[in-house]
Amino acid sequence: MDVEEILAELIPQVPRNVFTRWLSERVSLTWLDHDDDRLGMTRFEEGNTELVRRRRLSLDPGEITIGLHPRLLEEPELLRHTLAHELIHASGVLNHSKELHNAVDQIAPGVSISNSPMLQEMREQFLKQARVKSWRCSNCGYEWKRATMAKPLRCHKCARPL
Ligand SMILES: [Zn+2]
Ligand SMILES: [Zn+2]
Repeated sequence: MDVEEILAELIPQVPRNVFTRWLSERVSLTWLDHDDDRLGMTRFEEGNTELVRRRRLSLDPGEITIGLHPRLLEEPELLRHTLAHELIHASGVLNHSKELHNAVDQIAPGVSISNSPMLQEMREQFLKQARVKSWRCSNCGYEWKRATMAKPLRCHKCARPL
């Protein structure tokens, strides 16, 4: 898999945002450490204060580094999805807004957890460290062991919203 090639293919699909037109010049890729718990990250080398200023004035953002987890080489679909996500950040969408997620899904849809050994391992890691180990329904009193990262919307027994 040629990651630079995937990068070149994804950049033209990034929606127009404040930094989009600088992406092809400014983005360089790096690999995260093997024990990093992130799939990807985006770093603006100019620092935060400067970034805020350049965003406001629509100036060249300077060098942008996108780091990817090396294990993504084993999961090309997840790599594309992660890289698309980071590219939208790099284009100037800094928070995890609906806009960001919609744009990512159009460019490179996510991978379901059941199809990704890497996501499954990350979920297991997360559950091991999570403070809340079980959920309890205040309506019927049913209690069950946590198996998901997000809080369930409804009780698994009586289906009342939690
Ligand atoms: Zn993100
Ligand atoms: Zn219940």
